[in-house]
Amino acid sequence: MSDTDFIPQMRPLFGADERAELLSYLDEDGFFTEFKRTEAFEAEIARYTGARHCVVVNNGTVSLTLAAVALGIGPGDEVICPDYTMIATPNSVQMLGARPVFVDVEPDTLVMDVALAERAITPRTKAIMLVSANGRAPRAGIAAFEALSQRTGIPLIEDAAQSLGSWYDDGRTERRHVGRAGRIGSFSFSAPKIISTGQGGALITDDDALAARLRKLKDFGRSGGGNDVHDSIGWNFKFTELQACVGLAQMRQLPDRVVRKKAIWRRYAEGLAGVSGYRLFDHDLSLCTPWFIDGVAERRDELAAHLKARGIGTRTMYPPIHRQKAYDLPGDHPVAERIGRDGLWLPSMIQLTDAQIDRICGEIAAFYAA
Ligand SMILES: *Cc1c(COP(=O)(O)O)cnc(C)c1O
Repeated sequence: MSDTDFIPQMRPLFGADERAELLSYLDEDGFFTEFKRTEAFEAEIARYTGARHCVVVNNGTVSLTLAAVALGIGPGDEVICPDYTMIATPNSVQMLGARPVFVDVEPDTLVMDVALAERAITPRTKAIMLVSANGRAPRAGIAAFEALSQRTGIPLIEDAAQSLGSWYDDGRTERRHVGRAGRIGSFSFSAPKIISTGQGGALITDDDALAARLRKLKDFGRSGGGNDVHDSIGWNFKFTELQACVGLAQMRQLPDRVVRKKAIWRRYAEGLAGVSGYRLFDHDLSLCTPWFIDGVAERRDELAAHLKARGIGTRTMYPPIHRQKAYDLPGDHPVAERIGRDGLWLPSMIQLTDAQIDRICGEIAAFYAA
């Protein structure tokens, strides 16, 4: 790639390893639907995260819907969600007829504020959906949400879609992978995520009964493998072996990607240290893997246009969800509103070179120096 080629904000990376996995499957079998490769992929995610069970589904939105169904959430129930997140988080429960209730996030972590979450609880609240934004833990630690959940009996669901490769240090002897503090944790393997299967999602839990429920829910409510006996309602949210082949190859690359993502963030932090117009959100790299390079920019839209004209892609961060036309709710969430106004993701793909990062930082510095 030459120095003047367009640098996209994000692009998935697949290569020889994925190709070899797919070809070996095609030489061996032709059912395509989930089977041994999928089991191996689930086992790999369970091993990596330290969870007892992993159940994969076709994306990281229905994974949340299934988590909510498995926890007994239905029409009329309220689910507390952050106002700053990908819209899939609230939509996943909206699909069930449940009502997302939006709460502002912390200005430094972009994770839901636990005190505000507590204030939003009503007798109808049936779950708290915690999003570890870009791999981050809440300021008061995940322990604050666990304590809230214990005190109120309201289950915690972790939308850890952006957090594969990030850990919590919650004062235990061993750090825990993000997604393990909730009753159920959810991941996404959509194209921009740290590993991708094109589309895909995974649920992790340590609860045997919940894992069994999730497996039934994704397979028509079948009472046993391959039979047509149904003692409960279920749908079809199954995976495919082709996705699992890609996922197995991607999981082998995950440890290196974690190292590289951290190095990318560090290089940006150094390159932008003297640039006051763009401020990166901080990361504790000993625990957290920055999935996207996130920050707030003065004159954000002008900066994005300046970079685009110089062959550098960016992406504006999520607008506050309560203001999106899809919801259009009253509410005062100043942090989410500030991110919606000033937040800008910089190029964040795993294949980004140091020279490209230096060029991006140079262009940002030049924009603010002008
Ligand atoms: C990507 C993402 C999702 C949705 O995952 P899909 O696999 O695209 O359905 C949900 N929540 C968050 C926080 C995400 O970043």
